[in-house]
Amino acid sequence: MAAEEDVVLSVRNLQTVFHTDRETIRAVDGVDFDVRKGETVGIVGESGSGKSVTARSIMGLIESPGEIMPGSSIKLNGEELTEFDDMQYQQVRGSGIGMVFQDPQKSLNPVYTVGNQIMEALEVNQGLTGEEARKEAIRLLERVAIPDAPRRLNEYPHEFSGGMRQRAVIAMMLACDPEFLICDEPTTALDVTIQAQILELLQDLQEERGLSILFITHDMGVIAEIADRVNVMYAGEFVEKAPVEELFANPRHPYTEGLLGAIPGEQTAGEQLRTIDGDVPTPNEEATHCRFAPRCPEAFDACDAVAPQHVQVGENDDHTAACLLYPDGEPEDRRVEHHRELAAADGGENE
Ligand code: SF4
Repeated sequence: MAAEEDVVLSVRNLQTVFHTDRETIRAVDGVDFDVRKGETVGIVGESGSGKSVTARSIMGLIESPGEIMPGSSIKLNGEELTEFDDMQYQQVRGSGIGMVFQDPQKSLNPVYTVGNQIMEALEVNQGLTGEEARKEAIRLLERVAIPDAPRRLNEYPHEFSGGMRQRAVIAMMLACDPEFLICDEPTTALDVTIQAQILELLQDLQEERGLSILFITHDMGVIAEIADRVNVMYAGEFVEKAPVEELFANPRHPYTEGLLGAIPGEQTAGEQLRTIDGDVPTPNEEATHCRFAPRCPEAFDACDAVAPQHVQVGENDDHTAACLLYPDGEPEDRRVEHHRELAAADGGENE
């Protein structure tokens, strides 16, 4: 276990909801995780599982009708971000946390050259101006492997290819010198060769700068490449948490097994690519049952009546799953009772 002082980001009981006229959607419903210095933690799941809302909650980007519920905690280096006002959050977004989105256009302004945007970030965050800022901007573009950087500096985002734009966003992010990086599907829109290059670049930068990374994707193959530890997310909740090798070697939650079975190329000869039938439900009420039950091939009666809690499923306590099939080796009634008791204790704690 890492020492507590190694933890850069600590998220506890994060609940982010969206109020509509008809219902309250519990997009993120009580997730807990830590990211330690220099490590990459992944969140993986289908679209609609709540991954991006988790990222936006950490970045302070939830706007009405969205709301982070009281009792949620997001601590960056011990500071409680949920208590920050807009001004304080702007500072965190400027230099504490950097974010790389799927669509680099969201981060780049089409009417300014790439160089202008990087130099502005350098001025705001490092106080560099004029020739000094220009030289540093060129150095950053070269660092993210953009060829002919002095010329590229004067080009507009639309003159860059998709992969180059994502590199430019990463250069702009480096100008802010963050210690924590949130990557939300940063390679999804790119072809596989470029995707591999961007992942390698992120890993190199992480090593150079001791960056901590929260990496969000629907792609199990990408998670295998980049993450140290993984949280599998479904309908607003984490359903399995494990170190990456352990998750791939020994998946325990039926949803994780389904995601792994759906990776092309992972099947043995003659075995078909599997799919998970149905869609992620919209969680609009408190979980009093397993939200995966309608799609789960292993569901049994109690799954509709008891909310599964995280229990240890691997050799160590860093591998847990929220599923009534566990703890291993217990008869069904004992397992179900165990989860019922954990849920009651958890409910008491969160009151
Ligand atoms: S609790 Fe039941 S329905 Fe949910 S994943 Fe486990 S076996 Fe499937």
